[in-house]
Amino acid sequence: MSPAIKGWLRKLQKFNQSLSVKLTFMYGGMMFLILIFTAFLAIGSVHYLLMRQLQFDVRMSARQTVFYLDHHGQVDASIFQGQNVLTYVNLVVYNDKGRPILDNIARYEPGEPLTPGQLRQLNETDPDGAHFEIIDTENELTYRYLKRWESADGKVYYLQFIRGAQRERFFIELLIRQILVTVLASLGVTILAGVVLTNKVLAPLRAMKEPLKHIEVNEMGYRIPLPESRDEQYELAVTINRTLDRIEHGVAQQRQFVSDASHELRTPITVINGYTDLLIRWGAQDPETLSESLAAIQAETEYMRQLIEHLLFIARASAGELNIRLRPLETSEIVREVWNGLQIADRQGPHHELYLAANESALIEADDALFKQLLRIFLDNAVKYTPEGRRIMLSATATDAQYIVAIMDEGVGISEKDLPNIFTRFYRVDSSRTKATGGTGLGLAIARDIIDMHHASIEVTSELGSGTTFTITFPLLSEEGSADISPEE
Ligand code: ADP
Repeated sequence: MSPAIKGWLRKLQKFNQSLSVKLTFMYGGMMFLILIFTAFLAIGSVHYLLMRQLQFDVRMSARQTVFYLDHHGQVDASIFQGQNVLTYVNLVVYNDKGRPILDNIARYEPGEPLTPGQLRQLNETDPDGAHFEIIDTENELTYRYLKRWESADGKVYYLQFIRGAQRERFFIELLIRQILVTVLASLGVTILAGVVLTNKVLAPLRAMKEPLKHIEVNEMGYRIPLPESRDEQYELAVTINRTLDRIEHGVAQQRQFVSDASHELRTPITVINGYTDLLIRWGAQDPETLSESLAAIQAETEYMRQLIEHLLFIARASAGELNIRLRPLETSEIVREVWNGLQIADRQGPHHELYLAANESALIEADDALFKQLLRIFLDNAVKYTPEGRRIMLSATATDAQYIVAIMDEGVGISEKDLPNIFTRFYRVDSSRTKATGGTGLGLAIARDIIDMHHASIEVTSELGSGTTFTITFPLLSEEGSADISPEE
């Protein structure tokens, strides 16, 4: 294909992608179909009526002429007088040999005689000696009625009534031409009106396009000016502006997250750097410095491992790459598994009084790995923020439609001021920013994500100094949850 044709095709494709062109074509096409259908219907009806009229003219003329002849008793030129033969009907009278003897149209030469076949047909075959036919040649449509008539004295005549359809045909052809011109003209007007109208209707959309072109990630401040009339255009502008607000907020949050994350990563690196410097200079000779530095480096690397794990989880969750597989899950076994893990871990660190108040079995729709992770986040926090020897309790119960997991601790508690923020990424209550607990501030944010993924909900109650209770409520998958209460110290 030559480049010129390709260019034209590309232009045509681009033109065809425009909404106003599509609307106009749709609108014009529909109009064209309606017009053509109406025109066909009108022409068809006119044609049918005219042809019926022709047939009627021929038959009526024959009936009136025969009636006249029956009364008049003989064939002469008087049959052409009066209204016997209707306008445009040609009557030719033939003698018994089939030769024309009378014609209501003056001719220079006598017409053709009747053929022997026609005579035989009229004399022998046709009932009442009458024969009607429509002769449809290539450019002529003729209605012919032949009738045998016998006078009282036994003379036989043949009457031929003929009516051609030239006039009607001419009229219909004229009608078709005129209707076609009208259809094409209306189509032209429709397309023109369509172009003008759709352009007018779409003009506000085009106007909106301009400010949107300026919006970049670094320049999110642009908003579409609101039109005065509160119509669809107004609603669209408001919707787009609100979407932009949300995107702007999301981008700001994302930036904040990236900056917090880099800050959080930089801090342990700085600490590790400081200790390695110290080790290089003095540490190797001083056993106390050596062990302190190694312990700090170990703690910071562990913190970084945790932080990176949390960051990866958040990154995967927001990219939709977590591969969550929600399946019917029997809860009690998993709860017990996580609880056993907690018991083992608690034996190694400062001991707490661990109490599994209830572990009812329920069927929920969940991803088992995420469900485990969720329980661990709350239990780890309970361990971190509860002083040695105090109680940590877990209760998992099922009601008619819900599965409720409550994690209670007699720990440090959270102040009213901090409570609304604990699910925010990187938020840590000031007193928690210590080496001893060393949290990343991402655990509860991840827990909130997991809870949302499971269509569950969470509530927190806490009192500073007395303890905290987190209550997570899952919808039950079915009502099969059977009680398996096994309190355990
Ligand atoms: P972190 O890694 O710091 O524990 P989280 O997102 O898990 O981060 O928790 C956010 C903050 O909420 C914590 O820094 C802590 O101050 C507070 N918090 C969470 N759980 C408890 C709890 N059981 N008792 C007291 N404070 C808690």
